[in-house]
Amino acid sequence: MKKPLLVAQDLVKHFVARRSLLGRPTALVRAVDGVSFSVGAGETLALVGESGSGKSTVGRLVLRLIDATAGRVMFNNRDVFALNASALRAFRRHAQLVFQDPYASLNPRMTVNQMLNEPLALHSLAAPRERRARIDTLLRIVGLEPRFARRYPHEFSGGQRQRLAIARALAVEPKLIVCDEPVSALDVSIRAQVLNLLRDLQRRLDLAYIFISHDLAVVKHIADRVAVMYLGRIVESAPADALFAEPRHPYTRALLSAIPVPRPRARRERLILQGDVPSALKPPSGCHLHQRCPYAIEICRVGRPPLIEDGPHATACHLWRELPPAAMVIPEDERSPALNKLVAMYAEGLDVRGESGVATVAAASDTLP
Ligand code: SF4
Repeated sequence: MKKPLLVAQDLVKHFVARRSLLGRPTALVRAVDGVSFSVGAGETLALVGESGSGKSTVGRLVLRLIDATAGRVMFNNRDVFALNASALRAFRRHAQLVFQDPYASLNPRMTVNQMLNEPLALHSLAAPRERRARIDTLLRIVGLEPRFARRYPHEFSGGQRQRLAIARALAVEPKLIVCDEPVSALDVSIRAQVLNLLRDLQRRLDLAYIFISHDLAVVKHIADRVAVMYLGRIVESAPADALFAEPRHPYTRALLSAIPVPRPRARRERLILQGDVPSALKPPSGCHLHQRCPYAIEICRVGRPPLIEDGPHATACHLWRELPPAAMVIPEDERSPALNKLVAMYAEGLDVRGESGVATVAAASDTLP
């Protein structure tokens, strides 16, 4: 891994769910429960998990959009939680967020020109007479034509709106973008184009991404490293290739096992977890997965398994060394077709030059600041 750009240490976030008549908290949602990771320049770290795993809360914590209950975030060796107002404004320039729903994140009353002009003016990134040229460049970089600058968000398709959201994030020349389910609301073919655009931009601008997603095919396509979250904790993290080839944690295996196969009648053993995800209001003791895990033993009920590093692969399971090999639980020939088919659909987008923005990025990059 490259030198860390951002380091999160033991992040904790509790939300107050109920208060007494006197205002004292009587119930807490433990959304994030001791999460640590790092991401380097030009690298994509994916945070994966089901709804309620805490991955989006982590994204907001590292950007200091919400206050942490405990923990620390270092960005370029500076403590983000200790920044004063002006230093925080500078940090926000370098660390941006792209949401799942671009329509909700774009001001419907602003034209594209106004929308992109605003951050350039706010951060004094271009003199007034130079801003129009910068806006044209930004639009070309994300694969949109400069003539679109006079339009309003409702005049664009979903994929184009997400490109606009990316252009707005790029306007302030960030080093890090937190992408929170950025393609979940898009059709598969449009997903491919936006994902490939993100990869192109990363290559050219050395951007770091924290990529939040529940979609393993998307993650396999874009991530360098993956951290799997369950009920507010990271249960496994590894380079993407290693995690998909040899998942170690029962929860990761269950996620991979749940990917639908293209041959519905094929005989297949699935690692199915029992029951639903427990409430973060009252998470289970010990290993949070013990009520659903088919391998659970007594120690799982009482002791929190630490995230043990084994080279670049880390696993939080008391028994991971003793579990059957992944190939026995989810055989390679049963696991790969579905995932690889989905990943191939994203990869195909690379050849859709112009539509994916690849050609435009190449042409426009010469004019980048
Ligand atoms: Fe299952 Fe125990 Fe491992 Fe948790 S620690 S995943 S309950 S085997």
